[in-house]
Amino acid sequence: MTTTTHKGLTSSNTAADTASTDAAPVVRAVLYSRISKDTEGLGLGVERQREELHRLAAARGWHVVADLADNDISASSGKRRPAYEQAMALVDRREVDVLAVWAVDRLVRRLRDLEDVIDRTEASGSAAGVRIVTCQGDLDLSSPAGRMQARILASVARNESEQKGLRQRLQQRQAAQSGRPPARRAFGYLPGGRDLNEPEAGAIRECAKRLLAGASLTSLADYLNGEGLTTSLGRPWERTAVRAMLLNARLAGIRTLRGEVVGKGTWPPVLPEEDWHAVRALLLTPGRTTSGGTTARKWVGGTLYRCGRCRAPMRTGTRAGASGNADPTAARIYLCDATGSKHLTRRADEVDAYVLAVVEARLAEPDVAALLPAESPDVAGLRREAADLRERRDGLGEAFADGLLTAAQVKTASDRLSARLAEVEERLAQASQAGGLSYVLAAECPPVAFRSAALGIQRAVIDTLMTVVLLPGRSGSRGFDPETVRLDWKG
Ligand SMILES: [Zn+2]
Repeated sequence: MTTTTHKGLTSSNTAADTASTDAAPVVRAVLYSRISKDTEGLGLGVERQREELHRLAAARGWHVVADLADNDISASSGKRRPAYEQAMALVDRREVDVLAVWAVDRLVRRLRDLEDVIDRTEASGSAAGVRIVTCQGDLDLSSPAGRMQARILASVARNESEQKGLRQRLQQRQAAQSGRPPARRAFGYLPGGRDLNEPEAGAIRECAKRLLAGASLTSLADYLNGEGLTTSLGRPWERTAVRAMLLNARLAGIRTLRGEVVGKGTWPPVLPEEDWHAVRALLLTPGRTTSGGTTARKWVGGTLYRCGRCRAPMRTGTRAGASGNADPTAARIYLCDATGSKHLTRRADEVDAYVLAVVEARLAEPDVAALLPAESPDVAGLRREAADLRERRDGLGEAFADGLLTAAQVKTASDRLSARLAEVEERLAQASQAGGLSYVLAAECPPVAFRSAALGIQRAVIDTLMTVVLLPGRSGSRGFDPETVRLDWKG
């Protein structure tokens, strides 16, 4: 009995298969699943999607040609999806009749992907179309109504993906606000970002000290390379890398997100916050070039030199039509158009070379130490004030969150504090330059210190020693005439 029944069932199954094969063509299906972060949370891992797709295939009697899955954790990133491409290749070759997915957003991540799917599944010529079937229902992409439905489903999926992006940004912000160190290792820290890498941290402190004393970024890069240290990516140091490294707020234990301060970090700072702000102010001082080398030096005297016709500060510019000139430095000029017309222009390189040479010669004389400014600005006081202003500005957000201030009040107060902070930072930058001045003047060999100093320091030294007045060049005369640059010595 049992055997017969069993045999009967078996034979009837076989008969049914054979019958369906004979009666209707086998429907060939490719199953496609995709795991992404958003579905993981819903318990929609690849296994779950696959299970449901196989159940669907069994229920409809499809012959499963392929069961493909992509691990696609970041949905909208546009990363390649090999399994998707494989599935679409089966579609292109019409080796399948059905493309089955759990939901339309598993198949397409963006609306324009859907248009691609529509094109490739459409019936054309003798080739029949490929049906899209989801666990939620069939999509008939051959009809306008079906395509509209698919587009709506894909739009909804895209919206969810965008919402997910928003959620992720909020999570990142939360992580930042909780003060956790960023994932990427920073120079000065051990992996994980919680502990200092002492040799690197020590080198950073030395760099900050030297920079505030007037050293150039190039000389700092040389110093770091000389210490056998590399960037966090293992590359040798260059001045741009040194600059970026020193500008990183992380060194001061400040947590930022996309350049914006979000709070205090929970990791140890390499530099006291006020020192870092001094470094930052110095690096961001307008007119400062990142080069200490003479070859890459730009205008030494922009806004520092005076016009011999009207005493206005000289502007910098380029001589029109000078491109293609064999000597590219000939294009760089100082110009004055304070009276409305351009009434004075001078080639920048020859004026600068002359001024620098005169200053160097002056610094070689034995009395230079006497040139040090008598009173130095109250740097500590300025730094305290800057810290106070920053704290007050940071406190505004809390006051707003607590409902103590309106958004407009926060904006007004924040603008006022920011303006004052900019002033204090400017004075701190000037103070760092004064520090640079004493670095040059008190150096063992002032002319050498001057030559290797950063542009801002050189300008400060020039400004301490003299007023440079540019007179009109002598027309007709070839070459540079020192008589056309008047140096009014100060003191
Ligand atoms: Zn002028």
